[in-house]
Amino acid sequence: MSLDTGFERLALDLDDPFTIARGTQETATNVVVRVSDGEHEGIGAAAPSEHYGETPRTVEAVLPDLLTIVEEVGDPHALARIERRMNEVVRDNPAARAAVSIALHDLAAKHLDVPLYRYWGLDSESTPTTSFTIGLDSTERMREKTESAVAVGHTVLKVKLGTERDREIIEAVRAEAPDVRLRVDANEAWTPHEALGNIDALADFDVEFVEQPVPAENPAGLEYVHDRSALPIAADESCVTLADVPRIAERADIANIKLMKCGGLGEAKRMIHTARAHGLEVMCGCMVESNAAIAAACQLAPLLDYADLDGSLLLADDPYEGVPIRGGDIDLAGVDGPGTGAHPVEGRP
Ligand code: MG
Repeated sequence: MSLDTGFERLALDLDDPFTIARGTQETATNVVVRVSDGEHEGIGAAAPSEHYGETPRTVEAVLPDLLTIVEEVGDPHALARIERRMNEVVRDNPAARAAVSIALHDLAAKHLDVPLYRYWGLDSESTPTTSFTIGLDSTERMREKTESAVAVGHTVLKVKLGTERDREIIEAVRAEAPDVRLRVDANEAWTPHEALGNIDALADFDVEFVEQPVPAENPAGLEYVHDRSALPIAADESCVTLADVPRIAERADIANIKLMKCGGLGEAKRMIHTARAHGLEVMCGCMVESNAAIAAACQLAPLLDYADLDGSLLLADDPYEGVPIRGGDIDLAGVDGPGTGAHPVEGRP
């Protein structure tokens, strides 16, 4: 089969500047990848993260080599072969590889005329509700963002922390939203000692779990916190690729897997099953990314305990539609058509 490929930059405006402990993001740039067999077109996207060494430029620099492999193999169903060869050619660059992996999975499922989750045989009824993220801001703005999120039906919120006023923030958010499920993400901001003090305080506000309390460069610190924590610990920056999963098994309770960290859907599934074998619960997260990528992560939802797939919900205007998410409910069966469900909003290029 002959496959045509291409890619283009996608500039995305955010609803609000997105701030975490490490810094603020005003806009996001994704790179959309297309793979066509002449009849169907598979769509994917890379959401590169500088924290993991990628930018739109590095993605664009390696995509020609990755897409050459796709064209040489010439079979969208040869997913394992293509993912393995991509990994041999560029060992890093996970977001670039993920974009190609997503586009190929989309095309393979379209070729068989089934949604991707059905291609995998997964149960659309058992998807966790995705959280909606409340980024760092003034405490009053975070209270307002909480009010707006609850007003549109969100029942699970993830609150970014890692400031001097973490206790004030969680108190304000909890007062505004007494009934929602609350999680927090410190994005590596605390020392192990600070983390234990903060976690004790957070436990009074019925917080479900605490994500990445301490820096990934301090695995002993993460283990110290995990051994003494009043709340479950999720590992995000400490859980990048498959090899990290056994390493975090004694240092965390939940593995936060992201396509843009691990490099593709095949690797994400291996991480999910490996995490379970090590007694970890599994979450799938995302970057600030378009439905051109998020729709693929949503297909994994039946395999997850927790979903954090709000990347497109943080955008002012996503030119791609994907799996419908209303009030955080990931409606896989609501996708009209085969593949991941990603398609351009009507009337858009
Ligand atoms: Mg995180």
